[in-house]
Amino acid sequence: MGKFRLLRKHLFAIAIIGLFVAVTGCQSDKLTAVPFTDVTVGDEFWTPRMETNRKVTVPYDFKKCEETGRIDNFAKAGGLMEGKFEGIYFNDSDLYKVVEGAAYSLSVRTPQEKSHPDPELEKYVDGVIEKIAAAQWEDGYLYTFYSLPGRQPEKRWTDVRNKHELYCAGHFFEGAVAYYQATGKRKILDVAIRLADYIGSVFGPDKRHDVSGHEEIEIGLVKLYRVTGNEKYLKLAKFFLDERGQSERREIYGEYCQDHKPVVEQDAAVGHAVRAGYLYSGMADVAALTGDTGYVEALERIWWDVVSKKLYITGGVGARRGGESFGEDYELPNKTAYCETCAAIANAMWNHRMFLLGGEAKYIDVLERVIYNGFLSGISLSGDEFFYPNPLASDGKYQRSPWFGCACCPTNIVRFMPSLPGYAYAQQGDVLYVNLFIGGSATVKMADNTVRLEQETRYPWDGDVEITVEPKRSGEFTICVRIPGWARNEPVPSDLYRFLNESSEKVTLKVNGESVDLNIDKGFASISRRWEKGDIIELALPMPIRRVVSHPNVKDNTGRTAIQRGPVVYCLEGVDNPQGVAKLVLPPEAQLHTEYRGDLLGGIVTLKGQGEIPQKSVEVVAIPYYAWSHRGKSEMAVWLLRSAEGGN
Ligand SMILES: [Zn+2]
Repeated sequence: MGKFRLLRKHLFAIAIIGLFVAVTGCQSDKLTAVPFTDVTVGDEFWTPRMETNRKVTVPYDFKKCEETGRIDNFAKAGGLMEGKFEGIYFNDSDLYKVVEGAAYSLSVRTPQEKSHPDPELEKYVDGVIEKIAAAQWEDGYLYTFYSLPGRQPEKRWTDVRNKHELYCAGHFFEGAVAYYQATGKRKILDVAIRLADYIGSVFGPDKRHDVSGHEEIEIGLVKLYRVTGNEKYLKLAKFFLDERGQSERREIYGEYCQDHKPVVEQDAAVGHAVRAGYLYSGMADVAALTGDTGYVEALERIWWDVVSKKLYITGGVGARRGGESFGEDYELPNKTAYCETCAAIANAMWNHRMFLLGGEAKYIDVLERVIYNGFLSGISLSGDEFFYPNPLASDGKYQRSPWFGCACCPTNIVRFMPSLPGYAYAQQGDVLYVNLFIGGSATVKMADNTVRLEQETRYPWDGDVEITVEPKRSGEFTICVRIPGWARNEPVPSDLYRFLNESSEKVTLKVNGESVDLNIDKGFASISRRWEKGDIIELALPMPIRRVVSHPNVKDNTGRTAIQRGPVVYCLEGVDNPQGVAKLVLPPEAQLHTEYRGDLLGGIVTLKGQGEIPQKSVEVVAIPYYAWSHRGKSEMAVWLLRSAEGGN
């Protein structure tokens, strides 16, 4: 059964590639991510988190969807039970995201090369899908808010700016494609196809000109295109993108929705940060498939705007609570930083897609900063408590919550976590990319060879990475190993942050014990040679403790430094520093040392040294930012005073 499914998938993939070449011409300059189903994770850092996601967060999120009426809304809309709509109008999207997370969890592979057969979970999701399918109207429409207490056809599409019908549809497409790919079961995919066809009968160049106030439909349609090969979904995605900002054709919705000007004319990240991240991801998806250079140029301008003026040191974006939005240039407050977990996820998704457009490691540098910091802080180690905003300073009143009325973040985490292995490797022709340092293995299908890579590392606590190369047959090809920006004295690919002192410790790279030149191109050390079975690459990334300073225009960080080691940003918490952290001074010359604590917070490297409070020297203990808020309410700060006089 498994083999047959795999064969069917391969044939399908070949058919899609054929069609794709016929439609667009071969865009051979684009990279392909190695799908997470071809990557196994056996990693000290990520395996426990992915297991917690599978065992705790997936069932927990489903239970919450039950308790809050999110699942019943579908049963009611499908006539399977009585009752009225419960909750917020876009709650359908949350259930779709948990279905997507469950699908990925069913597909994730362990080092034993097995996915997780979980008949109980699969049966449960099948039951959920029955309810979703029942709620679909005969013409394909699916949105429970306008289906209860009875169907209200006159209300459909009356408020696409705010009511999120298209946003929900986009999440449904993502969930449906994921579940179909995980199980081979078509039912959910067929519901998605009917919904997409219906949407395509309403919106289009010779039909209604409008866009969703909250982007997401574009990403979903591209996924539907990739799995079905039906070009009309790609065209519809491009239509929705190109309609944004077209004020002569339609009423536009302004900057909050990135609908202030046509996307190819946009040059700065504005408005709601999650919407923006999904828009840019959708543009990158369409650009990868169509070769649209206008999209790529706009995306590069917007990306530079973010990384040079609007990115937190944690990888978080969206400074403002008001409008959940990007702020002005260099507006990066710490205590009031919004940094929604969903915005971090959207930022990671976007940067991965930017990397795939041209193979530049600077995008993976940003992605890595997000996943080890501003994303990971969004979920507790126990897997059932969440942050919505992720501030960089706290007066001790803020902590994770078990759920939110607007539950976008818990349901985004549950799908993003198991998809992470899909960001680790990529391939293009006879070039293989190692992006992330995660223990486990990958099977990479190259142009004319198949290569298995086995990665061993204690990253992010240790910068030694050993990669065993196992080509199916010996042959010439290139392996590009990312040399992270932080290891090249460049915390971010801009002047927004810099390390206070250059590190003199050098990155080294060896093949079979012999040193090789780093030969860095686009942030990757590229090794071209004839690879034999059992060849070993050894990368050593020194991990000194670094002090980070901001661009002087970031007023909130004046007179302050942050601490980073490897890709991990640190913070001080009141529980470790009872003298308080807000007024604590950590001079740049203060020596810090590392201590691995296997018993603390799931196993972390802590940093210790001497700081100052008025007239007194005190011991300072720093922990990784992502791990804060696990030991009761406590003060917290990422940016610390450099001197008693400095700062604000
Ligand atoms: Zn959210």
